[in-house]
Amino acid sequence: MKNNSLKEIAKVLSEAESVLLFPHLNTDGDAAGSCAALCRALRIMGKDAWILLEDDIPANLLFLDKGYSTADKDKIKEPDICMCIDCGDTGRFPERAEKFLSGKTTICVDHHMTTEYFCDLNFVDSEEAATGQIIFDLLKEMDVMPDAEIGEAIFAAITTDTGDFQYSNTQKKSHLIAAELYDWGVDFNKVSVEIYENVRMEKIMLKNKAMETLRIIGKGRGALLCVSLEMLRATGASMDESEGLAQDLRAISGVEYSAVLKEYEPDVIKVSLRAKREGNVSEIASRLGGGGHLKAAGCTIRASLAEAERMVERELEAAIEELGKNEAKRNI
Ligand code: AMP
Ligand code: MN
Ligand code: MN
Repeated sequence: MKNNSLKEIAKVLSEAESVLLFPHLNTDGDAAGSCAALCRALRIMGKDAWILLEDDIPANLLFLDKGYSTADKDKIKEPDICMCIDCGDTGRFPERAEKFLSGKTTICVDHHMTTEYFCDLNFVDSEEAATGQIIFDLLKEMDVMPDAEIGEAIFAAITTDTGDFQYSNTQKKSHLIAAELYDWGVDFNKVSVEIYENVRMEKIMLKNKAMETLRIIGKGRGALLCVSLEMLRATGASMDESEGLAQDLRAISGVEYSAVLKEYEPDVIKVSLRAKREGNVSEIASRLGGGGHLKAAGCTIRASLAEAERMVERELEAAIEELGKNEAKRNI
């Protein structure tokens, strides 16, 4: 499969009058930031541009939406372009799939290694730490003067997907882009406070409850916990506030794999998987019907929370055993 060039994508965008942007479900900072940056750029260029959503943006990302988002599928009746960002299959935006495919031209810009090339124009690069980095490159090909607001959205995308420049996906390029954003007038501390120091008390209480279910498996190399609907009810938190728990578990000394099972509905369990140094959670997620990256991946299991937990535990145990074998081989 071959990428189109960003130049080609920029040209097609410049010739369009209306563009509808599609971030994935359970929008995160990368999807929301990438969409906000591109939406603003397209509007500056005089396009009718909107971000189409099917669920709420997490509270700490609301600052990115300066009137760009809508849940109204008829906001643009017959879009010239439908573009999915930070996702690469219609399963990641199920309620909007039909609308997406109605676009006269479809474009995919993404950085997931499991993404298939399903649009008219595609740019997928799993080497990129964040889709926001690809949007940064795309903006350079577009006829638009970048400003602080676009820069802040790009920074939001990169800081969230790299764990604030800590995760193993972080590149020299991530830092170089951040450095250039100084010249665009970005207020980095403002963005960081909005994203990271804006935590509702309900989220803290949810973390407290969820940690009570923490289990260490695989001789200390695996950690998992569950977030149930009952915990949401008891704390008043929303499920998007379970974000970050998988990283918290991965941070435990000796843990290589972590998993957080989130009961969105009875029998609809979304799983967040993380690996620290050696592991590949993209493979595990694929086996369970999902996808993602080497060190951060996910899937949705249609079973009870207890059954999903057993399935994930089996996968983690097998992966940990595999790690042990590889280490033994290296030590021979
Ligand atoms: P999360 O644990 O939700 O933060 O997701 C971690 C990574 O896995 C993100 O990059 C997601 O885009 C990806 N991911 C999560 N769920 C799925 C899924 N069902 N299918 C494909 N990729 C997923
Ligand atoms: Mn994402
Ligand atoms: Mn991303």
